[in-house]
Amino acid sequence: MSAHLKILNRINPNLIWYLYAEKCKKLFNESKLILSFDCDTEEDIVVVWDVHSRLLDMGITPVYAVPGELLKKGEKIYRKIHETGAEFINHGGREHTYFDTANNRHASCFFYDQQPLGIVEQDIIQGHKTLQDVLGITATCWRTPHFGTFQKSEHLIFLYSILKEMNYKFSTSTSPEMAYRYGPIYKHDSIFEMPVTGIFSEPLNIMDTWGYFEAHDRFRAPDDYVKTSQSLAKFSSCHPIFINIYGDPSHIYDKPEFFQAMKILVQASENMNYTQLLGMIDENLRLL
Ligand SMILES: [Zn+2]
Repeated sequence: MSAHLKILNRINPNLIWYLYAEKCKKLFNESKLILSFDCDTEEDIVVVWDVHSRLLDMGITPVYAVPGELLKKGEKIYRKIHETGAEFINHGGREHTYFDTANNRHASCFFYDQQPLGIVEQDIIQGHKTLQDVLGITATCWRTPHFGTFQKSEHLIFLYSILKEMNYKFSTSTSPEMAYRYGPIYKHDSIFEMPVTGIFSEPLNIMDTWGYFEAHDRFRAPDDYVKTSQSLAKFSSCHPIFINIYGDPSHIYDKPEFFQAMKILVQASENMNYTQLLGMIDENLRLL
């Protein structure tokens, strides 16, 4: 963690947003919003269509990151979602959560930082092939499973080398800190990386649905998600920034606060997907 950012975060987190806005200004004239869903459990399959169609009605088309094994299990639903024009990105092949019956909840597994690199490579390839088989698409965007634990420079160097070999163009697999250091989109070994967005009042922490709606030990409430979205929307309506937030459908399908928050955000920023975003700012990216 950069010492400079840590100090800024302590003194005044707003300063980090101004720093971010300065970097965004070089690429954007107006704020852009991408909402991506990691669909890591079978529960997502049950609720994802309902969540997707409600968001479509609000003018938001989410991007989907579904591990290959789950893409196969929910083949019909995900195909239907793909047909509405939603972008699907590679999120690995194997499932990376399991149901912990002792605690009666889902738990994470298959962390890339704990695997031999050959297994990581195989998983990236398996995810890629499954997207070809199930949806007939050749993915060019990647999200690392549990990316928070795969942030060391040796991890990222390895990851980008594999993605480059597979002709990937972009990845959205780094934490918010990287956005404040290098910008909303930065180039690493010919791959464009787009870090996820932080919480407005705690910019170094990821604004995900887990921390507000799902974690059993969470200290944030669904109402706080609305509040942080309001602050983010207010800032983004004055300063063109890129908002790259993500969540899991099963965390929010029955939470009105999530949909309220998305309504607030989409009023202040234009919704798009990763391919559209990179296409739109292609000229500016050439300068990176
Ligand atoms: Zn995941």
